[in-house]
Amino acid sequence: MLIDFHCHRTAPFAVACTDTPSSGPAPAAEPSALLSCQGLLPGRWTAELQDMLLSNLISDSGLQMGEVGLDRRFKDVLPMDRQTEILRTMLHFAVEHDKSISLHCVQATEVMLNVLRETSFRPYGVIWHGFTGSRETAAVLSGLKVIVSIGPRFRGNLLDIFEANRALVPETDYEGSDPAEHESILRAQYDRFSRELQMTPDEILGHTEKLFKAFSPNPGC
Ligand SMILES: [Zn+2]
Repeated sequence: MLIDFHCHRTAPFAVACTDTPSSGPAPAAEPSALLSCQGLLPGRWTAELQDMLLSNLISDSGLQMGEVGLDRRFKDVLPMDRQTEILRTMLHFAVEHDKSISLHCVQATEVMLNVLRETSFRPYGVIWHGFTGSRETAAVLSGLKVIVSIGPRFRGNLLDIFEANRALVPETDYEGSDPAEHESILRAQYDRFSRELQMTPDEILGHTEKLFKAFSPNPGC
């Protein structure tokens, strides 16, 4: 099974994230995701939404944290120092409650690396989603045992990043609602991985399944 490590559509093959928490339980009719996450991004942040997110995460033991992070585009509404402080609070909470974490980072690489260095998360329990950074950053993340997740917007050299960090996985960041469109974007990501990393489709599949097990809070389940 292909696994989408980050998107915004609930699908059985997807790590489904949100940028804000939802106020009530998911409707029973909604199909479940491979891993369901709720998050809160700086551009949407309020103290009330943060409280809602943390209480949702407590009341649903299967729910993971994502996406949360840093975004310099919103520094005027939420200064970077404040964003960093909020992120620290969220990550400590996630670690304390054994939640997997999906990170969002826009123009704040150094600050994010410092926050990660001081947080004692489970190895491979964190992904840096939508990675567009350098080989050097990928290497630092390898040392920190953080998974690097690559979406369609990545324009760099995939093999270069893979050599720096073997914990490399594909994502779509799909935000639409069309299953066929979602699957075709995911398929294209796997084809790209296979082509650029010179691995067979089966090898890519085995690689991502192994990393999903490590990322998931209940390895072996
Ligand atoms: Zn996203």
